Amino acid sequence: MKISGYSIEVETAVNAIKKNGYKIVALQIPEGLKMDAFTIVDYIEKETNAKVIVSADPCFGACDIVDDELKNLGINCIIHIGHTPIPNIDNFSIPIIFINALSTHDVTKVVEKSIPSLKGKKIGVVTTAQHLHMIETAMDTLRKQGFEPIISDGDKRIQAKGQILGCNFTAGTKIVDKVDSFLFIGSGNFHPVGLLFATKKTVIAADPYTNTVKTQELDDLKDTILKQRYGAMARSKSAKTFGILVGTKKGQQRIKLAHEIKEFLDSKQKKSYIIALNSFSPIPLQSFREVDCFVSTACPRIAMDDYMQYKTPIITPVELETLFGKKRWEDYQFDQIIE
Ligand code: SF4
Repeated sequence: MKISGYSIEVETAVNAIKKNGYKIVALQIPEGLKMDAFTIVDYIEKETNAKVIVSADPCFGACDIVDDELKNLGINCIIHIGHTPIPNIDNFSIPIIFINALSTHDVTKVVEKSIPSLKGKKIGVVTTAQHLHMIETAMDTLRKQGFEPIISDGDKRIQAKGQILGCNFTAGTKIVDKVDSFLFIGSGNFHPVGLLFATKKTVIAADPYTNTVKTQELDDLKDTILKQRYGAMARSKSAKTFGILVGTKKGQQRIKLAHEIKEFLDSKQKKSYIIALNSFSPIPLQSFREVDCFVSTACPRIAMDDYMQYKTPIITPVELETLFGKKRWEDYQFDQIIE
C-alpha cells in the first residue's frame, strides 16, 4: 500500500491476522502517518475478520510498543508501523507485527548532489529505517564516482547494516577509523548531528525528500546545541537535589543506570530521587519543586529537543558526569542507549 510517500506492506499484517485467526488487533502508527491510519484500518477490516483499534498516543520509535497498555483491551496483536524492531527487545506480552514504512523517494540524485561535499574516498554510509532499502543504491552511486562506501552493523539495538537511531550511532562509530567522512541519508538534523558528535568526523546529510545536502549547517547546529547544553549544565552546577528520570517505555528503560546515578550522587553528598514516567512533558514534573536538576535516562532526545520547555534544567547522564568532572567538556558526547 502506498500512502503519503511511503510504501507499507500492510499485506504482511493481513496474512498474519488470517493465519493466526486474530479477532481484535491494535494499530500503532507514527505521528507523520497518523492521518492515514483509517485507510489502513479500512483495508485490514475489509481483508480480514478482525476489528482494529487505533492507538492515538504519540509514537516515536520501536522503543515505544504499547503491548502492556493495550493487552487488557482484549487485543490479540499489535501492528506497529514505521519502525524496524529493536532486536534485543522481545519481552512483549502480546505478538507484535513490525511493518516498516519505506520512503518512495529515490536517493540517487541527492547522493550525486552530495559528492562535491564528501571528504576523502572512504565514505561511511548511514541512514534511518525509511531509506534502508535504498542504501545499496546510494553505495552504487558512490562507487560509480570512484568512492569506497562502507557500511557496518550496529550493536544489539540495531536491526540492519548502516542503520542509525536517534539514540544509537554504533553503525557509524564501529567504522569511524576506516572512513574519511560520513554520508547520512534521511531527513531532519537530529541523526546527522548526533553522528557528528559520536564520530567527530565530517558528516554530510543528504535529504531525499527535499533533494538538499547539508554540512556547514550541521556544524553550526552542533555549536548551537553545545551552547544550549553548556547553559543547561551551568544552571545545574549548584543543584542540591536531583530528579533521576526513568522512562517506562519498553525500549527506554535504563533503571540500572538510574541506580548507578543515584549511587554516584550519594557519593557526592547530593540528594536525589528516582522518578518513573511514560510520556515526558514539563507538567507531570513541575510539582517536584525541590528538584534543581533532572537527569534523564530515557530517550536522549528529551533533554536535547525539548530543553526549552522545561523550567528546571534537564541534562543527560553523560552531562552529569561532565558536571562532576568525570568527563571533559571538550570530549562532549550525545547520550546514547548502547547495548
Ligand atoms: Fe528513537 Fe528515542 Fe526511542 Fe531511541 S529512545 S528509538 S531515539 S524514540
